[in-house]
Parts: sequence; C-alpha cells; structure tokens
Amino acid sequence: MSIEFSDEFDFENRIVDTSSIPEDVADGENPLRPRTLDDYIGQETVKENLRIFIDAAKQRGESLDHVLLYGPPGLGKTTLSAIIANELGVAVRITSGPAIEKPGDLASLLTNLSSGDVLFIDEIHRLSRAVEEILYPSMEDFAIDIITGKGQMATSYHLPLPKFTLVGATTRAGQLTAPLRDRFGVVLRLELYTPEELARIVERSAGILGIKIERDGALEIASRSRGTPRIANRFLKRVRDFAQVLSDGVITLETARIALERLGVDELGLDNNDRRMLEAIVKFYNGGPVGLETLAAAIGEEAVTIEDVYEPYLMQIGFLSRTPRGRCITAKACEHLGLPFPKGTAVTPQPTLFDN
Ligand code: ADP
Repeated sequence: MSIEFSDEFDFENRIVDTSSIPEDVADGENPLRPRTLDDYIGQETVKENLRIFIDAAKQRGESLDHVLLYGPPGLGKTTLSAIIANELGVAVRITSGPAIEKPGDLASLLTNLSSGDVLFIDEIHRLSRAVEEILYPSMEDFAIDIITGKGQMATSYHLPLPKFTLVGATTRAGQLTAPLRDRFGVVLRLELYTPEELARIVERSAGILGIKIERDGALEIASRSRGTPRIANRFLKRVRDFAQVLSDGVITLETARIALERLGVDELGLDNNDRRMLEAIVKFYNGGPVGLETLAAAIGEEAVTIEDVYEPYLMQIGFLSRTPRGRCITAKACEHLGLPFPKGTAVTPQPTLFDN
C-alpha cells in the first residue's frame, strides 16, 4: 500500500540528514574535526576508556587492540578513529565496507599498512562474506593466506602483516556477524549528544570558522540538532547566512530561531519528513504497532534509513517506541503534532536505542 500525501517527501535534501553531504566538507579537509581526545566534546565514558587503552598500548609499545564503534551516523566515529591514530602517533587509512569489494582489495590495504597503523572501516557490517573471511586471520594472527591460480596450478602464500589496529564503525552492532564482533577487544557505543554538549561543539566550530555567536544562539541550534554534531555544524553554517542579513553577523537566539524555522526544522529538530512519518502511524495504522517494512513502503522510504536516521532520535525524545510487533507512536508525540492519541496504542518505551 502506498499513501498519497499532499506535499512530496523530500528525502534528497533533508537538512537533518545524518549522513555526510558535500556541503559538510566543502573546503576539502574538514577543519571542524577535532584532532585530539581533549578537543573531542562529550562521550565522556568512551573517551575515558579509550584514553586508558591508548596509554596502556603506548606504554607496552604494542598496537592497540581492535576497536568497534557503534551508534547512529554523524556522532563522530570517523573523527574518533583519526583521533585514536593521532594519539597513538600512527597513520590512519579510512575506507568503508562497501568499498572493499574483493578479498584482494582488503589484502592490498592491509599489506600497505605500517606497523601500529589504524585501519578504519566504516559500515563494517556491509563487508561481503568473502572479505570477512580473510579479515578474521588478519585481525587475529596478523597474517593472510593468499591463493593464486586455479586447480593444480593453485599456489598458497602465507603473508605476514604488520601489527595494525582495526577500528570498525557500524550503525548497529547487532548486524555484525558473531565471529567478527568477537574479534574486537574494545567495543564502544556512542550516544546521542545532549543539547549542552552540542552547544559547546557549535561554539567551538563557530570559533574555528570565525562566526560570532551568542550562548543562547548556540543552545538554540544545539537543541534542534537531533543529538548529532554533523547536523549541528550544518545548521551553524546555514544560520550564519541569516545572521549576516538579520543581525549584523552575530548569531543570536532570535536569528537562530528564525533561520531554523525557515529551514523547516521545529524546536525539537523535527522536519516535515519526521512529522509525516509520525502522522502516517496515527492516521493509517491507528498509532501502531506497524511493522518497519510496512511503514517504509507506505511512506516510500528505505527501512534502513528509518532505522538509522529517523528512529534513534525519535526514540530518544520519547516519540516512538519499538515493540516486538512494530513501531508505536507515543502520547507525547501526538501532543507535539497536535493529533489525538489513538486508543489502544502500545506505549512501552524501549530501554535501549540501537539493539536489534
Ligand atoms: P560518523 O563517522 O559517526 O558518521 P563523523 O566522525 O564524520 O561521524 O562526525 C561528523 C562531524 O561532526 C565531524 O566532521 C566533526 O566535525 C563533528 N563532530 C563529531 N563528533 C564531535 C565531537 N565529539 N566534538 C566536536 N565535533 C564533533
């Protein structure tokens, strides 16, 4: 079933999209990326643990154990992998699961590393089975077996590798195969940021970009950024334009409010797509439960995008709950949308955000 909406969904140009868009790194190397653990704002538990593991590895003169980072997009996983390398004083190679198509691609990446280097694989849950299979011995024994030729001409080579640290990132740890997950010594979950932390990130970025911003303005941007630094930085750049015209180049509370309202982002960071998805649950599924695939088909969005991009934040603010039978809207969401809360909706909130 497909639902007709009066206005089209705009999936292509969502300003609250958590994935990276070219505008985020318009100047090539992203100057907003923190380079050290001290510069990296928030995620205190993750930072404390990493600091200990990094110091211990340095003291022993060994490579750091393999690290798995998980959490929604835009929270700083790539940034953290570069910081880990920087703190260890080694180089980082950045790639992603879908980019490593064949075992040979991984072999060439691994053999080009120097001792202690960090290999960052984003979206590691999307590695093919064949690639995963040569990743296991590489992670465990720092060696790979390569077979060349076919049939009787086949020859096998045992190739030792430098001791490297694999940093894997995924939006959902539950999607990783068990043998791969088990090979990570350090598993860290990144949480959505609080508005207070995001305001500090906005102020830091404003400083780097030479933008004048008042504390209230930073907090306003932060509270609409869905707990995600990537969105906060994007908003900052857009709000700057409004400030230039409206308030002498200084981002005030008022300018931030006007700008974000005009960009279609409400005071909780919801845009039209969020609102319409929530409305669809109320209007067409009586508040839920509705299965993920059904909902995705109904609004013409990918199920994986709903899970990775819409849901973490909507669940965090208590607007959506996941039940074994599907997604349900909450009374709080209905109140925000100005809709009556349908009777009989299951409303038990889920304690964990990213588990499958
Ligand atoms: P991910 O790999 O999780 O999708 P990134 O590492 O690309 O996210 O981070 C997105 C952007 O957000 C980065 O360019 C960086 O500027 C900013 N950022 C992320 N985490 C932090 C942080 N803790 N402190 C300051 N800026 C951050």
